[in-house]
Amino acid sequence: MTVRTRFAPSPTGYLHVGGARTALYSWLYARRHGGTFILRIEDTDIERSTAESVNAILEGMTWLGLEYDEGPFAQTERMDRYYEVIAQLVEAGHAYRCYCSKERLEILREQQSAAKQKPRYDGKCRSLKHAPVADQPFVVRFKNPQLGAVVVDDKVRGNVVFQNSELDDLIIARSDGTPTYNLTVVVDDIDMRITHVIRGDDHLNNTPRQINIFKALGKESPVYAHVPMILGPDSKRLSKRHGAVSVMQYREQGLLPEALLNYLVRLGWSYGDQEIFSKDEMIELFDIADINSSASTFNTEKLLWLNQHYIKSSQPEHVARHLSWHVGQLGIDPANGPELEKVVVAQCERAKTLAEMAQNSVYFYRDIEGYDDKAAKHLKGDILEPLQNLRERLALLPDWRADLIHQTINAVAESHDLKLGKIAQPLRVAVTGGTVSPPIDITLELIGCIRTMERLDRALEYIRRLDSAA
Ligand code: GLU
Repeated sequence: MTVRTRFAPSPTGYLHVGGARTALYSWLYARRHGGTFILRIEDTDIERSTAESVNAILEGMTWLGLEYDEGPFAQTERMDRYYEVIAQLVEAGHAYRCYCSKERLEILREQQSAAKQKPRYDGKCRSLKHAPVADQPFVVRFKNPQLGAVVVDDKVRGNVVFQNSELDDLIIARSDGTPTYNLTVVVDDIDMRITHVIRGDDHLNNTPRQINIFKALGKESPVYAHVPMILGPDSKRLSKRHGAVSVMQYREQGLLPEALLNYLVRLGWSYGDQEIFSKDEMIELFDIADINSSASTFNTEKLLWLNQHYIKSSQPEHVARHLSWHVGQLGIDPANGPELEKVVVAQCERAKTLAEMAQNSVYFYRDIEGYDDKAAKHLKGDILEPLQNLRERLALLPDWRADLIHQTINAVAESHDLKLGKIAQPLRVAVTGGTVSPPIDITLELIGCIRTMERLDRALEYIRRLDSAA
């Protein structure tokens, strides 16, 4: 059997991390077994589905690198097929037209709730042969078996038993003829020859209904694995209230996709106590049997820890490609300064996120606007001469290289009888505007000779002005 998995989001919003995790598991399972991963857009809820959301989902999956082999298939383009299956089910006696009015169903519901019974359809139209009145509107209900039980052999939860007597005669076509969720999912899972359904456990209650529809259509149902939900730190279901939940928000915050993937794979799955997994390792080691059966709590600290790990250990050119976007977001064209790859090498120990790294690297590309208060304290009269001297000697360097810059700073410090820090810190303030940067020689090399000279002149001018005002 060739494994065929699918991710079937409803395009009613962004790509949520919970959705991204089920997509990842489905993708991994297909990749692990030489299978096929299918993307299906469940857009039959016309009111709530939007093209922007389809784009957001595609964008999120592309950014994460979860490439699909087939699709995206939109359910709205398969309506004829659903109508056909609905007709087939009615024809075979597995579904029936229900003419009950809204009012009748409302009264029924009230009576049931007054009698403390679970609200459910009472089967009035189950054996009707004809419409009670000509042209009366109807919905189509699935004729759920009344006896026996459905055992969902869930690969995460184990066997979950549902009594048929508890399952309603579910509406599979609305009064306008449009199909409902459980019907479309089954038809698609059949037509797309899905072998394994990995999805959120909020769908577990739908599964016995879907299995009954599979049976009525004479088809075998796929293997199911329902993944427990993700909780926020307050043990409530993870939602916007807890902060970022959309994949693209994590991009904006400066995550590398591999850090988010690594975080998501571990959030609900484990392989011993290993924490770091490359994509290839995930593919090699992922198994549905190792998905945790209890809910997992989202931990932002751990996500940032992983992000820092990947910032430090990935190839600088790879990190640079992602950093470029963040630099662009700040309105900076990275072509106007040092190669981003070199910035990554210089900054990778200092940033937990790429957004932070971009923010801390602005002075490589754009003129500094001034000195922050703490930094300005380093620009005082006593440093004027050494700084002036340093400027002159740096200007004479034959090559603008960190090692030569380093020697020059050392020599100037020595000739003025200063400790290195006493000159390095004012120099840092002069060229970056702040007190934090990579080692000063590397910082200067990256800023470049011309910009360094301009900024030193400006700092010298600033000190002179302060002096003369004093
Ligand atoms: N469209 C459903 C959702 O977004 C998923 C259905 C399924 O995976 O079977 O929750």
